[in-house]
Amino acid sequence: MRSATRGPVRRVGRLIDRWLIVLDVDPSTRRGYETKIRKHIRPSLGDVPLTRPDVETLDSFYAERRRCREHCDGRPLVQHRAKGTHLCDEHQAEPCTPPDPDKCRACRRACKLHVCKGLADSTVRQIHWIVSGALDHALVGKWISVNRPSTPTSHRCRSHPRLSPSRAAC
Ligand SMILES: [Zn+2]
Ligand SMILES: [Zn+2]
Ligand SMILES: [Zn+2]
Repeated sequence: MRSATRGPVRRVGRLIDRWLIVLDVDPSTRRGYETKIRKHIRPSLGDVPLTRPDVETLDSFYAERRRCREHCDGRPLVQHRAKGTHLCDEHQAEPCTPPDPDKCRACRRACKLHVCKGLADSTVRQIHWIVSGALDHALVGKWISVNRPSTPTSHRCRSHPRLSPSRAAC
């Protein structure tokens, strides 16, 4: 694996790869981190240049995690129960009115409109911890300098909690 351990660290995704190498936690904690990184961090921060995860980027990142755990774009969206071809409503011709999921199997199985649900506070806190940990690692590796706006916000949070999503996450 030449790519993860060598070469310049220019983007947050690469930084996280490097941080995972030195991270010293038990295997189950690591698995939890890796899942959160894959699902919630990489898709939006992975390609952010390392000089630029500033406070605004991070704040909107956390606000987004709190809005919808599926990272939908806010438009109506059907959450399908299966990936392949399927009938979204098995009693399309004669649907129950109103739907009765307790008694009707077809109602239970019908694909539903997606309702946004934000990540739990504890999950956002862990994500915050991961991102801060990786950014601290960037300081250690001297891939970013202390004076850059990309300084982790974690040490500034305690004095004014709940001002913004990322601070509230501390
Ligand atoms: Zn469907
Ligand atoms: Zn039904
Ligand atoms: Zn959503």
